Parts: sequence; C-alpha cells; structure tokens
Amino acid sequence: MIVEDEAAIVTLLRYNLEREGFQVYSTGDGEEAVTMVKEYKPDIIVLDWMLPSMSGIDVCKQLRWNPDTKAIPIIMLSARGEEGDRIRGLDSGADDYLVKPFSPAELIARIRAVFRRFRPALTEKTLNFAGVSMDVAGHKVTRDNAEVHLSPTEFSLLRYLLEHPGRVFSREQLLDAVWGHDIYVELRTVDVHIRRLRKGLDYDSKRPDIIRTVRSAGYALEEVPLGEKVADEEL
Ligand code: CA
Repeated sequence: MIVEDEAAIVTLLRYNLEREGFQVYSTGDGEEAVTMVKEYKPDIIVLDWMLPSMSGIDVCKQLRWNPDTKAIPIIMLSARGEEGDRIRGLDSGADDYLVKPFSPAELIARIRAVFRRFRPALTEKTLNFAGVSMDVAGHKVTRDNAEVHLSPTEFSLLRYLLEHPGRVFSREQLLDAVWGHDIYVELRTVDVHIRRLRKGLDYDSKRPDIIRTVRSAGYALEEVPLGEKVADEEL
C-alpha cells in the first residue's frame, strides 16, 4: 500500500511495483490509510511523512498501537534527510527510511530487503508445507515429489495460503488477494476453487487435507488429521 499525496509519485511507484508483480493500493490521506490498512492488510506500507491531514509519523504510530496492524512492515518516505529526521522516522515505528528523491528501483530493493527480514516466504523461490512444494518461478507444484496439476487460479490461491501458513482468511480476503479487489466475483467462487485445490492436492485420498475450513470464518493452511472429516460444508 502506498500512502502518498503526490499523484505523480504514486503513479510512478504503482507502475513500477505492478510491473514487479505487486498488487498496489494507494491513498493520499493519512486517516484513510489507517482504515484501509485494517481492511486490506497489505504485506508492506510505503508511507510518506508529509501528508495533508495526518502526518506519516502519526499514521505510523497508530498502526503500531493496533495489534492487528502492528506487524506490517513500513518504509517511510521523506524529503527530510537530516539524521534527526531519520531517527524520528525510525523511532515512530518505521522499519526503513528512504529520502526523496529516490528511484523506484531503490524502493523496490528496499521492499525486498524488508521482506527478506520479515517475510522470508515472499522472497523464497520454493514454498513448502506438509510435503507440498511450490516452485514459484517455474509454476510447478509437487506433493511428496509427485506433480500436482493446478489451474492458474488454484496455483495463485495455494501460493497465497503457502505464504501465510496457519492464518485464517475470509472468502472476501481471498477474493481480494487472488482475484484482485476491483474484479467482481461471487464469494462462492472461492469455495469452488478451494474444493478443486483440495482435490488436486489430495490426489490419492491417503494424505491429510491441508486446507482447514474454519466455520463462519474462512480457510487456513493447516494440516488436518487424516481421521478428521474434510469440512467441505458451507461457511
Ligand atoms: Ca507528501
């Protein structure tokens, strides 16, 4: 998520980040940023210090106070490059600090560096869970070394779950993450793809289901013991 009120910078960053495969949300308003972060749970926030209503420093502090958002990495942007400013930026809870002007390539390098520290799964080429292995670049999935055939949507869905093992996602969150926020897709579509994904992964029915249906909440990547009935009922 980009929080920046200068439209030209947002356009430039969005273009470069999307080209690198990131899904980008943006706002130029600090208060709206706090609301959007709670809603979208971005993987990382690029936050400008100088914003019209609420400063980036205050946005950063608010996000750090809230248990739901305190773990999301933040890179602070500022035209103020004095050492005191850097220290204040980092003291407010930012994980990194970038002085304007900077190149999109430098920001992307910083984002990747922050991910390596906080979310190693996002930069690893292979994601693994319970015998399931995903070669992200090669677009290949195996389970116990046997190849699993998945459609591109099922692949993206599994990739998202593998990046956040154990975390429960609502169908709305999965729709936003896998299909994109701007596309209208029925919630049922998520259930259909989860079912297909389970089928693809559970090819000989002797392996545990690795997607748990959490009643009235959503789905989570978790090893479900073999004896347990696969909860395929409606949420
Ligand atoms: Ca600004």
